[in-house]
Amino acid sequence: MTTPIVVQIVVDKPLPQGFDYLWDEARLGCLPQIGHIVEIPFGRGKEVGIVTKVSAHSEYEFDKLRSIEKIAPLPLLDGALLKLMNFASQYYVHALGETIMPSIPKMWRKSEDWDKIPKKLESAAKKKAKEKNGEFVEGYITADQLNQEQSNALESLVGEANKQKNGFRAILMQGQTGSGKTAVFLNWLASILQDETAQVLLLVPEINLTPQLERRVRAYFPNEILAVLHSGVTEKERGVAWYEAMTGKARIILGTRLAALTPIPNLRAIVVDEEHDPSYKQQEGTRYSARDLAIWRAHDQKIPILLSSATPSLETWMAAKAGRYEYLRLDQRAQGALLPKVHLVNSRDPQNQFSPGDKNSPKTKSLITKTLANAISKNLEVGKQSLILINRRGYAPVLSCNACTWLSVCTQCSSHMVMHKAGALGKKSVLSCHHCGLVKPIPSFCPDCGNADLKTLGQGTQKLEDAIEEMWPNARVLRVDTDSSRKSKGAETLFQEIHDGKVDIVVGTQMIAKGHDYQNIGLVAVLDADSRLYSPDFRAAERLFAQLVQVAGRAGRSGTDGQEGGDIYIETQYPEAAVYQYLLRHDVDGFLSHTAREREEAQLPPYSYQGLIHAEGKTLDKAIQFLSGLKGRLKNKGLLSKELRVYDPVPKAVMRVAGSERAQLVIESESRKLLQEVLELIDQDLRADSQGRISKTSRIRWLIERDPIAI
Ligand code: ADP
Ligand code: ZN
Ligand code: ZN
Repeated sequence: MTTPIVVQIVVDKPLPQGFDYLWDEARLGCLPQIGHIVEIPFGRGKEVGIVTKVSAHSEYEFDKLRSIEKIAPLPLLDGALLKLMNFASQYYVHALGETIMPSIPKMWRKSEDWDKIPKKLESAAKKKAKEKNGEFVEGYITADQLNQEQSNALESLVGEANKQKNGFRAILMQGQTGSGKTAVFLNWLASILQDETAQVLLLVPEINLTPQLERRVRAYFPNEILAVLHSGVTEKERGVAWYEAMTGKARIILGTRLAALTPIPNLRAIVVDEEHDPSYKQQEGTRYSARDLAIWRAHDQKIPILLSSATPSLETWMAAKAGRYEYLRLDQRAQGALLPKVHLVNSRDPQNQFSPGDKNSPKTKSLITKTLANAISKNLEVGKQSLILINRRGYAPVLSCNACTWLSVCTQCSSHMVMHKAGALGKKSVLSCHHCGLVKPIPSFCPDCGNADLKTLGQGTQKLEDAIEEMWPNARVLRVDTDSSRKSKGAETLFQEIHDGKVDIVVGTQMIAKGHDYQNIGLVAVLDADSRLYSPDFRAAERLFAQLVQVAGRAGRSGTDGQEGGDIYIETQYPEAAVYQYLLRHDVDGFLSHTAREREEAQLPPYSYQGLIHAEGKTLDKAIQFLSGLKGRLKNKGLLSKELRVYDPVPKAVMRVAGSERAQLVIESESRKLLQEVLELIDQDLRADSQGRISKTSRIRWLIERDPIAI
């Protein structure tokens, strides 16, 4: 009798261990290999899992083991990818199976559909053959057309002098919006792809940036198959793209954070565009940073990685300053346009406000000050477009009663329900909770006192749109937010209307500001910038600064006359705040140095490393008790010290969501290694009394997060 073959399988469950199964070579038609995707019987059902070990032994009796049912019609997950997954699983303290499995497209995780797959691939290939690449040529700048600064940058990436540097390189390319960074990295990737087997990975933030960049990439590589992976593609498209990446057919993999975990056997270079963008951080399941994993992957595979941004994250910028990363700078705007002029409008100053007696004073009250209104009128007169940003979608952030203290609070969350006007979320006006999604009709009377006089407080995009239509009745106004783009037209159609000059004033959320290359914007206004400074998160200012620089980059991109810098207006009650003062001078490095000093004094990241323990349950008390209990045990083990700081548990900023109450505990250390050890210890400690990640005694759902970006 031959010795049975035992394989270890991991599945998408929060279980630290794998499971042993028997491999019947005769039945399955081949020997097992690490990286095989297989179907297994699991409990009373089936699961799809990955082979992570092959041996002739098991701790269990062979006749107790069950057998592998089927093998997926797919190549193996390659060794380099599994190594990356192992690292991610360990670093982010999540099971290997629950790290790998969600990165595999759904289409491949349904074993009952495996038989149909060859057919699906065939039809997708036929469809693709009809598609044409390279018809769209905006932004197609060849290597000879690069300006001096860009050529220098490209030279240091590809030049002879660097040929010897074969292997891992991390490079920060910092340059203001419009300085031609994209043109540089696309030319760099083109030179790498001259090697006919090479594949490259281009990561972009979520999501409305992708179509534009995709067109540009297609213009550069008319004959290449692109694997496009983001939340906007269908499951089937994603399945096919992933397959084409793992078989080497697609040589360019373009996608959002999940794409960082794609199997790419011949990966030769990685670009992370807008590397500072918070959307690179996964906020559920294994909470990885796609940028950080991409850097690890480049290091492990000994290939170069380019991080591109106008406002690098403090982490990356400090690494470049310290010489750990190479540092490329683009300091001019490629098409010669000037930087926009920044105006800080002090909204507390009466001179900037409409006064009650003013005959121009609009009936619809809004956040638009008189100073800003005048500037918008002037901008209209010269035939330029204005972009007005407010961070709140909906009509008004809260509805209130005029007679008592009633406010439209969500019954399931500790947050207000936002009023949306008819047409946005339904036929009638509604109240909607942006945290749990609950939608309710607008009450005709106050639920507390019966008063019929309900009024709105504050303003969102819809109310602002009304105010603008009243103030400039002849202007063509367009609102861009997730409501308007969900309704009839997709975001792309709305952006196209701006491009085509069909609108004069655009009002919208941050969504308008990302990466789009509008040509005729003369003025950009930000109305509620301060609201983002109130956040308790220590990264609030860094994030606001990055957003404002992005936004400013929308103004004056016009290259035709090469002169117009455009204007950006920021309404604020705190014009003296550092974030605005550095913005006024377009001083990105100054702001980052300033921020670095603040973080150093407070020993906050990147001067220390953090872990976050989340706890969620029926009541806040229970969640806090659960975390206090954990802290107590850490203390008893003698783990609390100056080197390892464990803070007291606190309620989360939005404490109640969808009926659960939530608390968190921050752990901080200057030593990555120490933090890692303690997080692993906590994982063991909590698992001892848990089923999955739910505590058996207190029914608290818990989660460990490494390097949180929002606290
Ligand atoms: P970034 O990525 O830094 O925002 P882009 O590469 O998108 O910059 O360039 C901004 C604009 O300038 C684009 O419209 C691009 O086509 C154009 N551009 C870039 N490089 C050049 C160049 N060397 N000559 C002329 N136009 C350029
Ligand atoms: Zn009332
Ligand atoms: Zn809610």
